Amino acid sequence: MVSLKDFHSKTLPTWCKGCGNFAILSAIKMALAERDIAPHEILFVTGVGCGSKLPHYMRSTGFHTLHGRTLAVATGARLANHDLPVMAVHGDGDSFNEGMNHFVQTVRRNVNLVDVVQDNRIYGLTKGQYSPTSEKGKRTPTSPQGSIERPVNPPALAMTLGATFVSRGYSGELQHLAWLIGQALEHPGYALVDVMQPCVTWNRSYAYAFYNDRVYKLQDEEGYDAKDRGAAWEKAQEWGERIPIGIIYQDTSVPSYEEQVPALETGPLVKQPLKTLTAEQVGALRAEITGGRPIPRSEEENRRITEPSRATKAAPPGQPQWPEERGEADPE
Ligand code: SF4
Repeated sequence: MVSLKDFHSKTLPTWCKGCGNFAILSAIKMALAERDIAPHEILFVTGVGCGSKLPHYMRSTGFHTLHGRTLAVATGARLANHDLPVMAVHGDGDSFNEGMNHFVQTVRRNVNLVDVVQDNRIYGLTKGQYSPTSEKGKRTPTSPQGSIERPVNPPALAMTLGATFVSRGYSGELQHLAWLIGQALEHPGYALVDVMQPCVTWNRSYAYAFYNDRVYKLQDEEGYDAKDRGAAWEKAQEWGERIPIGIIYQDTSVPSYEEQVPALETGPLVKQPLKTLTAEQVGALRAEITGGRPIPRSEEENRRITEPSRATKAAPPGQPQWPEERGEADPE
């Protein structure tokens, strides 16, 4: 039975006191523990930002990648092993500025992963520049006369791209956020959890008081049906005196990207035997990649490239592929 303690990390967060990232971290742990998902049974992919340090602050499998490349790496991980749940966790800058192209491609492909956006409407790590979700007129060091850009609306944008799970959470509603992340984990496709998260240091306009006065839960709205695209579109754009949180839109009828990739029909790529390449095939590949330019290579590299690895060696007939599954020592 997995418990919250299983995710405990000895590394303490460097986040500012009161930062919404603490609640997001707790909500993720709660959602995983409730579903009995152990730290090694899920991969976290994060980019660059205060919140993207998350894999350091919880015991888990994590990939802390480059700014804006979070969803590209998460997609790659899913294609390599679609048996492994993947959760991307990154800020509004990483998601909708440096990573906007990857957001578009991941949503329209319906890659089966959870995308948690720590949306504090500011660049916190680099000390308060306006972000893609900052409101028009926002005064920051990079917009001293006020931002002239209209903000991105993540739920509405996701809907226009064909997202099959669109939701908004609030870090001041911990139990609700944990529930929401759990629902996203169970969704069979791309799932956006856009989390309104106060940056208490650099964005005082969106403090807890602002959200506490406005947030309401969609599940308390009588008759609201997240399968109703028209109703969802209206809720996705509601921002003012009232701000909805919860599942805005969900469609479980669309197949995920992974379900449609022919190479994955026989199972996750990491569990499939690799074909051994001959030295000639390796040479042809290198020429294709390098345009024929020679690359110095050591004898050891040659051996590693052309000799079958443990993954490519054929298992004895009727035996499992991996040595440890056969009760043998790992030769590597
Ligand atoms: Fe959180 Fe803002 Fe501090 Fe970063 S700068 S840790 S987002 S409060």
